[in-house]
Amino acid sequence: MTGTAPAGSARHAEIVLPVPVPRTYTYAIPDGLAERVVPGARVVVPLRRCQVVGVVAAVDAPAPAVAAKPIAAAPDAEPALSPALVQLGHWISRYYGTPIGLALRALLPGALWSVRRPAGPAEHVERVLVLTRTLPSLLERERAFKRAPKRRVAYQALEALGGSAPVRHLVTQLGLSRAALDGLVKQGFARYADVPRARDPFAGLSSPPPPTLTDAQRAVVSAILDTPPDMPALIQGVTGSGKTLVYLDVLRRVVASGSGAILLVPEIALTPQTVARVRGVFGDEVAVLHSGLSDGERADAWRALRRGERRVAVGPRSAVFAPVQRLAAIVVDEEHEPSYKQGTAPRYHARDAALVRAKLEGARAILGSATPSLETLHLARTGGVRLFELPERIGARPLPPVQVIDLRSAPRAAEARAIPWSEPLDEAVRGALSRGEQVILLLNRRGFATYLQCSSCGDVRACPQCAIALTVHQTPPALRCHYCGHEAPIPSACGLCGKETQRMRGLGTQQLEHFVGLRFPEARIARMDLDTTSTKWAHHRILERVAQGKVDILLGTQMIAKGLDFPNVTVVGVVDADTGLHLPDFRAAERTFQLVAQVAGRAGRGPRGGRVFVQTRAPDHHAIRAAAAHAVTDFAAAELPLRAPPHPVYPPHVGLARFVAADDDPVAAARAAEQVAAWLRRANAERLAGALTVLGPAPCPIVRLKGRWRWHVLVKSAEPRALGRVVRAWGRGRGAGAGGGLVVVDRDPVSLL
Ligand code: ADP
Ligand code: ZN
Repeated sequence: MTGTAPAGSARHAEIVLPVPVPRTYTYAIPDGLAERVVPGARVVVPLRRCQVVGVVAAVDAPAPAVAAKPIAAAPDAEPALSPALVQLGHWISRYYGTPIGLALRALLPGALWSVRRPAGPAEHVERVLVLTRTLPSLLERERAFKRAPKRRVAYQALEALGGSAPVRHLVTQLGLSRAALDGLVKQGFARYADVPRARDPFAGLSSPPPPTLTDAQRAVVSAILDTPPDMPALIQGVTGSGKTLVYLDVLRRVVASGSGAILLVPEIALTPQTVARVRGVFGDEVAVLHSGLSDGERADAWRALRRGERRVAVGPRSAVFAPVQRLAAIVVDEEHEPSYKQGTAPRYHARDAALVRAKLEGARAILGSATPSLETLHLARTGGVRLFELPERIGARPLPPVQVIDLRSAPRAAEARAIPWSEPLDEAVRGALSRGEQVILLLNRRGFATYLQCSSCGDVRACPQCAIALTVHQTPPALRCHYCGHEAPIPSACGLCGKETQRMRGLGTQQLEHFVGLRFPEARIARMDLDTTSTKWAHHRILERVAQGKVDILLGTQMIAKGLDFPNVTVVGVVDADTGLHLPDFRAAERTFQLVAQVAGRAGRGPRGGRVFVQTRAPDHHAIRAAAAHAVTDFAAAELPLRAPPHPVYPPHVGLARFVAADDDPVAAARAAEQVAAWLRRANAERLAGALTVLGPAPCPIVRLKGRWRWHVLVKSAEPRALGRVVRAWGRGRGAGAGGGLVVVDRDPVSLL
């Protein structure tokens, strides 16, 4: 149509707006903006009485019946989204059944969607409280805080947070009183300081040059480079096999030839250690897109990549959309990590988006893990991905032997009482401490105790908003809901029968910390879980102390299982391997295997070797056995048949989508789910020749969350197209219809709770 419009009549463009509407909007192109209004460009357009940022989907659109308003501005000299990224947005929209506006919104940093301040807000300083003196032993603590229990709570909270924390966080999030904080300062244990908010923790890192590759690493690098670029690679390398150096060497060659690259890592694994290694190879060519960036900094990093000033992007999930120029490789480290799946629309999986983007741009995709997901292993078996193995650790170090301890029969250490703390683990920890070595203890349950129960009537304190027991916390003391954040004081009497017989049940990390502190009073202990890492950089500070040898025992939730490389760790204990084993989710065994195998891999990375102790009540479970043998292949061989007939079929044998209906009214939620199920069954019979299996509706395992009742319908199919059709159809038309507004579609869900 170009050029055929009669002189004087305006040209029109179709604009995608970042709203959940499955259509584009038509605007007129003013003559002065014609050059900048091209597909992928950001534009500012009037919408009702406001202005919003949109992205051009197409130009030379037919003129609408009603006169269209003109585009107000086109701020960028170059289109913000390359054609490949626009196509990736369309794939996300189609595959996940998300309106294109929401899909494109995910592709650009938030600040670039703001009309008023496209560069984001300015920096601020904030007041923090910093510990100045530590009280390593329990005895000293008793003495110092004898008549000031609140100060002691404040002290311990600060210590747990890595030694410093914003005052605002301590007061508003943790409920500590200002008087207690002032008291700590007066006693000389802490001081106040004003620091710029969101200081880049990676700013002053020294970056050593990378070591020379081992023969095994070099072999994998050249085998990958010899593979056609359109064939994705999976590096399955045992823990400590040096996968990172392999990624970096492949990327180094790519960048040396003038191209760009992306390295995706789980947020929690984006440690100073990792960043230093990447900087050691790429220097200033790398942009680190960590979650601590302010909106303005994020937009700056985005622009530097877009202009080609930086050629390598490193970051978690959303870095898959980094506007790297001449993209030639995308690496997805720890590809099995569930954190690669976004929990809100668009519910994309960064690994899968990476595979699609690589294909669109002719780039290599390289996935890596010691414990690959069954989906990726299945792809490797069926030829969709080529497998490269690193079966040995660097320096031919052995993988640590794993002792499985049966908690049902193993002797408990004296004084352990209800704590699952066996004699073999106790002795191993004591031995390591006496030799000046470090210990890692995994317990994947935060809080002090799992729940509070009245031993007279059996009542358990539950969250008033969620169908979930409240967790008992001690630093600071409260009952907390781990799903919605609801908080209540710890009651002294039962809410139902009034008796003062409240018992704490189930071990959490805070109680484990307390117990280990009493048992090994000289040991310096650090706890790492969501509660101690809720402030910025807290987990870096904790890990830094471990790296410097200032911590003897690091204990925590799954956070400590990931990527840590501390050569002085000789003992790893899994205090209770069964915390996730019996969840009503078909991936429960897979997650347990991955968690235990990963944390086991933290031991024995130095010359002193290491040992692992796994405490469990299911010593014969295939997930535990395979993890104890560091054997992915064994696990897959045992698990894959359990997801195929005669058992209920699950991924990777079929694709899965989940429709969740949620509403304040339980009847409305159930009814909406019934409507979805009926609609799916009709579509299946009438249009899809029975390609789908529709399960439900059924109440979700967590039937009430944040005050809303939840029902779900699961849809399985061996035909991705059939799944795609219902997911899209629902997202397009049905979503707006009766009851549809309550329903969320999640394709390839990583959780079924
Ligand atoms: P993985 O990610 O496979 O668990 P890492 O990449 O963390 O393993 O490497 C494990 C350790 O081995 C790290 O401390 C790393 O610095 C070291 N390492 C890796 N490659 C080499 C090499 N070629 N020479 C010496 N040390 C290496
Ligand atoms: Zn709740």
